[in-house]
Parts: sequence; C-alpha cells; structure tokens
Amino acid sequence: MQKIWDVIVVGGGPAGSSAARVIADAGYSVVILDKKKRIGSPNHCGEGVSSLCLDEVGVKAPQPWILKQVKGCKLTFPNKTEIRFTQKGYCIDRPSFDRFLSKRARDAGTEIKISTTVNGIQNERSGWVVGTNRGEFRGKFLIGAAGALCPVSGYFNQRPPILPAVQYKFHPDDVPLDFSDDLLQFHPREDFAGGYVWVFNRGREISIGGGASSNLAERMERFCRRMGVDPKKRIKTEGGPIPFLRKPLRVAFPRALLCGDSGGFIYPVTKGGVHGAVWSGRIAGEVISKALDGDDSYRLSNYSSRVRPYPCRDPIHLLIPQAFFKFDNPIINTIGKIMDKKEYTEIPVARFLRYFLSKPAPRILWGIAVGFAVQRFYHHSARFAW
Ligand SMILES: Cc1cc2nc3c(=O)[nH]c(=O)nc-3n(C[C@H](O)[C@H](O)[C@H](O)COP(=O)(O)OP(=O)(O)OC[C@H]3O[C@@H](n4cnc5c(N)ncnc54)[C@H](O)[C@@H]3O)c2cc1C
Repeated sequence: MQKIWDVIVVGGGPAGSSAARVIADAGYSVVILDKKKRIGSPNHCGEGVSSLCLDEVGVKAPQPWILKQVKGCKLTFPNKTEIRFTQKGYCIDRPSFDRFLSKRARDAGTEIKISTTVNGIQNERSGWVVGTNRGEFRGKFLIGAAGALCPVSGYFNQRPPILPAVQYKFHPDDVPLDFSDDLLQFHPREDFAGGYVWVFNRGREISIGGGASSNLAERMERFCRRMGVDPKKRIKTEGGPIPFLRKPLRVAFPRALLCGDSGGFIYPVTKGGVHGAVWSGRIAGEVISKALDGDDSYRLSNYSSRVRPYPCRDPIHLLIPQAFFKFDNPIINTIGKIMDKKEYTEIPVARFLRYFLSKPAPRILWGIAVGFAVQRFYHHSARFAW
C-alpha cells in the first residue's frame, strides 16, 4: 500500500525547509521533493540577507555559512550620489545556508527526496497525488515552495510574472571599486528598467548582478565596463528568475498553500526574497500543522490573513516601487542629489525646498513624489527588505 503523507512539500529551498521543519516538529509526516541533486546547488541568489532574516531563522552570527558582515545597503545613483539604509546584514554562502535549513528539517523528522522532479499534480477526494520522475507521492496537504516556476502555483494558475536576473562573481583584485563603507550597493538605472544592479563585496569575491526584462547580458557587460570591470574576468555566472508581481497572488487553497517565491513573497523594492521565504514557509507550516490537529482543511484560509503584513500582499506596495524603478536617469539623479549621503529615513527639507523653488519640470516633481512614497513604504516594511 502506498504511503499517504500528511504533507507533501514541493521544493527544498528556504521556504520548503522552513515549512517542513515546523510540520515535522509538530509530529506529522512530511516529505520534501526537490529536483536538485544536492540541496542548495547551484546557487541562484545574490546571497545578501539582513540580521532580521537571521532572527527569523532563529540563529546568530557567526555561522559557517556567513562570509561577511555588512553595515547595511546604499542606493548609488548614476551621478554617484547615494542614499543609505543602515541595517546590519550578511553576505552568506547560499548553498550552505539552504543545506543548513534542510538539515534542520531532516533532523526534525522530514524525509527529503532529492533528484525528484515534480511533473504532475492531481487533486483526489482523499488529498493530493504528486507525479515525479521517481513515481507518485500521495498526501493530505500540499505546499508549493518550488520557487518562481513552481508546479503547484502553476496548477492553481498563480505563477508570478518574472524578472530574469544574473550575477557574475569576480576575484576582488579584478574589481577596482571602493568598499570601505561596508555597505551592499544597489544601483538603480534607466537601462535596468524594472530592476537594478547590485554590487556586493563578499570578502573572498565580489558579485555584480542585475535584473532586467530584456538584453540582460548586454546590459551587464555595459555596466561592468562602466565600473572599470572586465566582465570576461568573471569566475562564475549564476542567475535565475525573480518574481515580479503586479498584483498579489492567491496563496491559500483547500488543502494547499504557496510560500516563498512560489507565492510571490519578494520584497518589491529590493527584490530580496530569502527572508520572505523563511517567514512565509514557517507560517505555512504552522497553519497546516493546526489544520492537521483539528482535521479542518478550511482553516488554511488563516494563512492569507497571517501573511498579510508582507508588502507583496498589498497592491499599492507593489505598484509604487515599480513606478520608481522605471524612471529615467535625470529623475533618479535628482532624487539622489536631494538625498545625497542621507539615511533613507531623513527628509532633507531645506535641500528639497531649494530644489522646489528652482522650478523643476513637473515630471521631475512627480518622480520626487514617487521617491518619497517609496521611502514611506520602505520605512514601514523595512524588516522584510532583505
Ligand atoms: C539572481 C538572484 C539574486 C537574488 N538575490 C537575493 C538576495 O541577495 N537576497 C535575497 O533575500 N533574495 C535574493 N533573491 C531572491 C531569493 O533567491 C529567493 O527569494 C529565494 O530563493 C526564495 O526561496 P524559495 O525557497 O521560495 O525558492 P527557491 O530558493 O527557488 O527553492 C525552490 C526549490 O524548489 C526546487 N524545485 C523547483 N522546481 C521543482 C520541481 N518541478 N520539482 C521539484 N523541485 C523543484 C528547486 O530545486 C529549489 O531547490 C535573488 C534571486 C535571484 C534570481
């Protein structure tokens, strides 16, 4: 007789492992199905996380997978002005981080099936039948945690639109940039419309990555050269799709939930998603464990209300950053000039008034207004930013 799992989790990244650990801890049978030969590899992440993400995971630095501590981030504009975001964080080795989370899930009692690609999902009266290259798995509840292209979100017609992203890693000697402020760099620019470029000093290597809807390789080549970096000297190329929502996805269904990238839990300004993945994964695990306790599948609707604080659940919070990342360089540079060297929470009233009295074009004023809206939005939700 085929085993019926209490929960099948599709995807063993941060979201899936976090969900499974909670369910296994509650004493229920849970299996993770992941197509990778080794959990976490290859990497598809810029590998920057804040200390608040570590708090969510419930660990403190140092950890073997933490490569470097940073003081925070900064937005660096094309005219070299900048805005700072002081929030301690870390450059991590993402494959080792994923394996750390996976081991914790396994130690709690989760069974993990690697090299197992999910290729079919069916709903039957008794629960779910999940088809894979290694045969079928049956379960009472289903969690979609297989990232931006998750088959479970596909089954529910909730697959998020995506922004392709790529990252090049260089030896530090090949990147002649100043990293003395210990901040991760984000570069918004008109040629990366909808996205931006990041430059992270990871200690033993420097990563330069970017997301853009078209001609990504060409744009990356141009950006690297502008920074004085020869893209041919890169030692590694990594990348993947980032969910790029225009409206919130539905994430709770009878006997099934979506978490992490699969549910679109990406922070709309930074596009960071590791924190959202471990957070939404944990909540998905808690909600399903409670439903199993009471055998009441409809309690899964609680998930939607519990994940409401995440910014991607609010349509306005999705729209405002999108408008910001579509501005041309003159608008971006003006925001930079007004905010230069300030912490993002400070509003430099005198500089702004001076600029306002110089009678700027209405479209620049509109840009500044959107910039302030992003600032307010970020201020209220910064805990999830990266
Ligand atoms: C280039 C890039 C840079 C990024 N940089 C950052 C950053 O610096 N900081 C940050 O916070 N976020 C960053 N993100 C976002 C972050 O990587 C994701 O939000 C995060 O990985 C989401 O975790 P997850 O568990 O939801 O999904 P994933 O990490 O994608 O894990 C999904 C798992 O599902 C498995 N899987 C997929 N399909 C199937 C299938 N059909 N069958 C079985 N298994 C399957 C995969 O093998 C994978 O192990 C970046 C993303 C990209 C693409």
